[in-house]
Amino acid sequence: MTAIGLLIAAVAAVGNLGSVSGFHLPHRISKYKTSSSHLAMATTTESSSNNDNILPNADHILFDVPVSNNGARCRIILYKKGISNEQVTILSPAHLGGLKSEEYKKLSPLGLMPCLTLPKHENPSQQYHGGLSSLVESDTIARYLLSKYATIGPSFQPENPKSNLIARMHDMYLTTIQGCLYKPASRLPLGDYPDRKSAIEAYRKNWNIIESFLTDDVAEDATYLCGKEVSLADATLFPSAVFATYMLPKFDSDLDHPEPPLPPKLTRWFDHLRINDSTFTKVYDEIMDTMVNSWENTNHRWDSIRGAGVRDTAPSTIFDLILNGSIPATIVRENEHILAFKDINPLAPAHILLIPKDRNGLTSLRQSTEEHIHILGQLLVMAGEIAKDTSLGFGDGARIVINDGKDGGQEVQHLHVHVLGGRQMESTFG
Ligand code: 5GP
Repeated sequence: MTAIGLLIAAVAAVGNLGSVSGFHLPHRISKYKTSSSHLAMATTTESSSNNDNILPNADHILFDVPVSNNGARCRIILYKKGISNEQVTILSPAHLGGLKSEEYKKLSPLGLMPCLTLPKHENPSQQYHGGLSSLVESDTIARYLLSKYATIGPSFQPENPKSNLIARMHDMYLTTIQGCLYKPASRLPLGDYPDRKSAIEAYRKNWNIIESFLTDDVAEDATYLCGKEVSLADATLFPSAVFATYMLPKFDSDLDHPEPPLPPKLTRWFDHLRINDSTFTKVYDEIMDTMVNSWENTNHRWDSIRGAGVRDTAPSTIFDLILNGSIPATIVRENEHILAFKDINPLAPAHILLIPKDRNGLTSLRQSTEEHIHILGQLLVMAGEIAKDTSLGFGDGARIVINDGKDGGQEVQHLHVHVLGGRQMESTFG
């Protein structure tokens, strides 16, 4: 991952406002508009060519920035345990010239953040970290900190084994598709998900799976995810919850009936921690401060994706009745995303219509955006396959047409591709 990608990933991973919280955005924004730099983290921008000379004298340096979602779990551990600056100092990678700088790459070859420097042993033979004097990957750093400072503060490792399960599920199934909340359409598809909408559905589903691991008394008697003790699961999940609760409402088109960003137990847990636990409140503020004030309000970072994947509220058409089986149609081909059927009023011996099963705003081609690239590509590929199918009456070629809007002769307001063939077409388009 590039340094920029990493920064964006860190952001994406960053979680936000909770369920209920997600519905009070204006209030929150105004809060963050007025809040200034109250963060405890060093944010110097100096650079130097010699790490040893410019790094503070601490056992470890954690390179991280306040908004970073991944690093946030490490910061929660440090704050909660009360680890001193002499033990771990938090610095921005900018201190070494940024994620892409040669100095930073000596510690984190891929330019990854967070990155934790390891102390030097006086006896080099006991130097267990070989050539690289640092750790990367937030889960690795978090577990190292828990082991190194096991005798200070809470252990974060309750008896309940679900703590590790939740942390693992988060890293495997949530973080990996969290990009659906912030990546521009040009950087989709995302893994197995062809478009933002399907990735967001999967993302919500994965939160629900984590919800199913929780007992009913979360945030009531239990307080934390795995009982009365704070755990690695809380530290891992909380920053993503900040991000999810802030970003998911941006994809709600029906403001009268917004979909809660998190399922109910996680909502209670998230709201409880961000309001009542000072460590989590602090990390919440760290993440939100940059995300709202700088990224949203100043850089307008989310503008290109705001509303992307919104629900389609245009009136339904005759094609919806065909899709739900209320009226018959001769279906000639079908997959998860597309239905192809014979036109009821054929204008050629072979006349097939292809429609996306999920209209997703495509009342006409003119409504298409980068968000629709995948389905548009799939429609054309299937149109080409159909045009080669002699069993449907096609010969040597076909005319493939999309009527668009009134002037284009479009009657049904659900994007469809006509494939016409079985005779020689006229050279004029009437
Ligand atoms: P448009 O003029 O919007 O590009 O094309 C709409 C097409 O849908 C027309 O060719 C019309 O014959 C076809 N069509 C409209 N209603 C039905 C229907 O109920 N069943 C089928 N199979 N085709 C339909």
